[in-house]
Amino acid sequence: MGNATAKSPEDADAIASVEDISERILGAIWEHRLPPGTKLVEEKLAAVFKVSRTKIRLALARLSHDSILTVEPNRGTFVSSPSVPQARQVFDARRVVESALIHQVAGQLGREQLARLRKNIALEADARERDDRRASIRLSGQFHVLLAQAANNAFLEKYMRELCSLTCLVIALYDAPGTPACPFHEHDGIVDALEAGDAGKAASLMVEHLNHVEKTLRLEMPQDGEIDLEAVFS
Ligand SMILES: [Zn+2]
Repeated sequence: MGNATAKSPEDADAIASVEDISERILGAIWEHRLPPGTKLVEEKLAAVFKVSRTKIRLALARLSHDSILTVEPNRGTFVSSPSVPQARQVFDARRVVESALIHQVAGQLGREQLARLRKNIALEADARERDDRRASIRLSGQFHVLLAQAANNAFLEKYMRELCSLTCLVIALYDAPGTPACPFHEHDGIVDALEAGDAGKAASLMVEHLNHVEKTLRLEMPQDGEIDLEAVFS
C-alpha cells in the first residue's frame, strides 16, 4: 500500500473505493474462496475492508445488480446459487454472445492483443501444471473476458464479466471433482483461428468449447422420485 499515514477510518475509506471492494469480492468468487450461498454480512465486511457500511452496501448492491449476489428479503445478501435451468441459460447466453464477439474480433486483433491472449494461455497452463485450481479457474475465465476487451465495447465486456462470474458459480456448484474449468488446449485453437482471420472456424471452435465446458458439469439432475434410495444406501 505504501500509505503509512492512513490511520482514521476516513483515510481508509479513501483507499478502498466501492469499485475496489466489489472487484475483491468478485475475485474471491472467481477463485471459489466465497462459495455459492455464502452470506455476506455488511458489518463484518466493513471491518475487513476498514470502510463504512455505506460503501459495503453500495458494493453489494452493484454485485446483486449483476446477479452475482442475491438479496433475500429479511435474510440478507448471499453469493448467488444458480439453479440448473439458470446454469443452462448462462451457457446459452455465452454461446450467442461469444460467437458474435468472435466474428467482431477475427482478423482485427493487433499484435499486442494476440500476445495478451497467448500470455493468458501460458499462465493457465502453468497453473494447471502446478495443480493450482483456483488460479486455473480464474485464468480460464479471464481468457474470455480478454476476448471481450479486444472488441472495444464496454457493454459487451461488462456483460461477459457477469457471464463469466456466473459460470464460476455454476462450476463451483455442479463441477465433477477434478475436471478443468476450460478443456486444455482449446483456447489455443481459438486464438490460432482468430489470428488467421478465420471467423467461421474460430466461432465454431468457441461454441464447441462452451459445449465441452457445459458437458463436464453435472447438470442432468434426476427428476423427482428418480433416485433409487435403496441403491444409494446399499
Ligand atoms: Zn474457455
